[in-house]
Amino acid sequence: MGTEKASVNGNQKLHAFFQGAVVPMDEAKVSVMTHALHYGTAVFEGIRGNWNEEQGKMFIFRMREHYERLLRGCKILLLDIPYTADQLCDVTVDLVERNGHQSDIYIRPLVYKSAEVVANLKLQELASDFTLITVPFGNYLGTDILRCCTSSWRRVDDNMIPTQIKSAGIYVNSLLAKTEATLAGFDEAIILNQDGHVSEGSGENVFMVSGGKLHTPRIEDNVLPGITRETIMQLAQAEMGLEVVERSIDRSELYLADEVFLTGTAAHLTPVVELDCRPIANGEAGPVATELQKLYFDIVVGRNPKYLHWCTTVVPRMVPA
Ligand code: PMP
Repeated sequence: MGTEKASVNGNQKLHAFFQGAVVPMDEAKVSVMTHALHYGTAVFEGIRGNWNEEQGKMFIFRMREHYERLLRGCKILLLDIPYTADQLCDVTVDLVERNGHQSDIYIRPLVYKSAEVVANLKLQELASDFTLITVPFGNYLGTDILRCCTSSWRRVDDNMIPTQIKSAGIYVNSLLAKTEATLAGFDEAIILNQDGHVSEGSGENVFMVSGGKLHTPRIEDNVLPGITRETIMQLAQAEMGLEVVERSIDRSELYLADEVFLTGTAAHLTPVVELDCRPIANGEAGPVATELQKLYFDIVVGRNPKYLHWCTTVVPRMVPA
C-alpha cells in the first residue's frame, strides 16, 4: 500500500467494516491473541477502485470475481463467514460510498481466524471473521517500466500451501522475493517454480510476446489465477485477435522474448524492459503491452461501454467529519 496515509481522506475520517458493523478505522482492532496474527490463517483480496474525475464516480473493477476467489480461499482454509459474494459486494459498495474517496483506492477484504487461541492447529475448531478497509492508493510499483531479476526463492508448490488462493501465510514467499530483488536494486522479482519454470512475480502474473502470440504460465505452474491475467487474456483475443497460449515457460525464453509484462490489480499492466541485466528486445515497452495497457486503463475507469459490466460504479457520499 505504499506510504499513503490510511487514516484520513481529505477531511473525512476513514471507516472500516469490522465485526459486522462500520466503525471508525481506529476502533477496528484485534487482540494479540488472534490466531491469524500467529499463523497467517487468513485469506485476503486486493481490489481496485479507480476514480473517474470527469464523471465524479468510482469504478470498482471486477469486484465479484475477487470475492469469488476470496470464498474459494475460505473453503480451503475452513474460514466460515456468514456472507455470500453478493453480500460482500454490497458491504464493499457501502463502505466505499461512506469513505467518500475521490482518488484511486485499494480495497482490502480479509477473512481471518479471529479465535483468540494460540496453540491450536485445527482449523475446524477456530472461529473466523471478516473485515474490510479501503485506502487511497497510487502507483504500486513506483515506476512505469520494470527492471526485474529472477529470484533465488522458488514459488511455493500447491501441495505445500495452496497457490490458487490468496492466503496470508503464503505471502512470506512473495515478500522474501520482493525484498531480495529491491535490496539488489531491481524493481520486481520473477519467481520460478520448483521445477524451474517461470511462475509469477511477487504480486503479479507474467506474460511474454513471442512468435506473434501471447504466452503466460499455466495455472499448474503454481500461478495465482489473476483477475487481471484473465482480463488481459480476454482483451488480447477479443480486441487484438492475438492467440493466447497457457503453457510452461523457461526462464531463458523470457530473455529472448519480443515483450514481457506483468499484470495484477495493484501493478495494472506494466512492461518489463530488462531481466537479469539483459534488455528484453530493444529495452523499451513493446507495442502489444502498450496497446493492451491503453485498452485496460480505459476499461477500469469506466470509459469503455463494452466492458462496463466489469465495473461497479460508486458515487462518494459526503459525510461530515
Ligand atoms: N500473483 C500474486 C502472487 C498476487 O499476489 C497477485 C495479486 N493479487 C497476482 C498474481 C495478480 O492477481 P490479480 O490480477 O487478481 O490481482
